[in-house]
Amino acid sequence: MIPRYHQALDFEALWREFPPPPDYFGATYRLSRDEIRGMQEQRFLRQMERAWQVPFYRRRWSAQGMEPGDIRGLDDLAKIPPFSVHDMRESASNDPPWADYIGIDPAEHAPLPLILQTSGGTTGLPRPMIFTPVMTGSGAQTPTRRQIELIKAWKAKFLVGFPAYLRHMGLVARDELKIDPRELPVKGLIVHLGTDDRAALEALWGADVYDTYGCNECGTMAAECGHKTGMHVFEDAFILEVNDPETLQPKSEGERGVVFITTLFKYAAPMIRYNMNDVTSLASGECACGCVHRRITKIFGRSDNMVKLRGVNVFPEAIGAIVSEDTRTNGEYVCVLEAVEGGRESMTVMVETCEQSAPSGVIERELADRLKEALGVRLEVQAVERGGLDHLTGLSQTSKIKRLIDRRHAAST
Ligand SMILES: [Zn+2]
Repeated sequence: MIPRYHQALDFEALWREFPPPPDYFGATYRLSRDEIRGMQEQRFLRQMERAWQVPFYRRRWSAQGMEPGDIRGLDDLAKIPPFSVHDMRESASNDPPWADYIGIDPAEHAPLPLILQTSGGTTGLPRPMIFTPVMTGSGAQTPTRRQIELIKAWKAKFLVGFPAYLRHMGLVARDELKIDPRELPVKGLIVHLGTDDRAALEALWGADVYDTYGCNECGTMAAECGHKTGMHVFEDAFILEVNDPETLQPKSEGERGVVFITTLFKYAAPMIRYNMNDVTSLASGECACGCVHRRITKIFGRSDNMVKLRGVNVFPEAIGAIVSEDTRTNGEYVCVLEAVEGGRESMTVMVETCEQSAPSGVIERELADRLKEALGVRLEVQAVERGGLDHLTGLSQTSKIKRLIDRRHAAST
């Protein structure tokens, strides 16, 4: 029997539990801290029950001496060992094709309409992620110029994308198609902003930029409201921890740590203390919108993308923020890390220049000085023509843009 999508789920019950917009803003969005906590407690225990049915957790937790029932509520959350993408990769290669973190066996369980998405596959095989009904996504790719024509023809008001790509799109519209992006009907750009330059992107498009945070495994987990005071975490669906990467202890408001995510709603592949390796901090104070869901400030970078150069921790994303402040560049960049003689390491920041800018030697020298001033370590800068980094970053082909190329171990081979 072919499972029908609309029959596979009690949508009315789902919407009562997780009201969709616009009801969301009159309900979940307005809950008090106590109400949020109560809701989380109940959903967390239910999610734990489900997680114990998933082989990935059963084997990992049992190996640590954990038993079902040991975790009695959110106060015990810190007792659960976290996992990272490396553990998921291991699961995907040891238990093909679907990995043991999914927790659904098509040979054993009743048929259910499922949606398959994967990670980008930039490191080994893509990690599969299966969703039960409700999550969706389109994998279709439309050329940039065509998208701009569609925005114009269909009067698109909001665009969702990576900032680097939306900047690229804005520049293609302005410089190649001679369409001023500010004249397009776009009112808002929904992006994962990170340390990118919000003001420059807003000026290019004449539209508001809203930061969001999400991942392949969970979908969107936090988003800014109109006040742009940090991203409100969707706390009815997720528990977001900000912890010290070494000690795993929670960080206070304003202190940087790595994100751990626990889902409160997933049947296929529940995520319990998934160490995202993304660096952020909790925002302090209350947001003027009145919503008391906790906020994170921004994603400063990935802790596993961090490079230690002559004793200084360097994030490629922070370099990008400085590059994009220099209007003689178009904001595109890639960092190339190499081993040099004497066991030392050097980083070259490659940037793209705008058409009518200063001689590249001047830009290179001045940008290197600016980076030294901001980061405390000297980096080489190499300026290339616009589009010249495309083959390294993959900007026009993929959404997973490469900002760091590690050639430290390539020299000897
Ligand atoms: Zn708000």
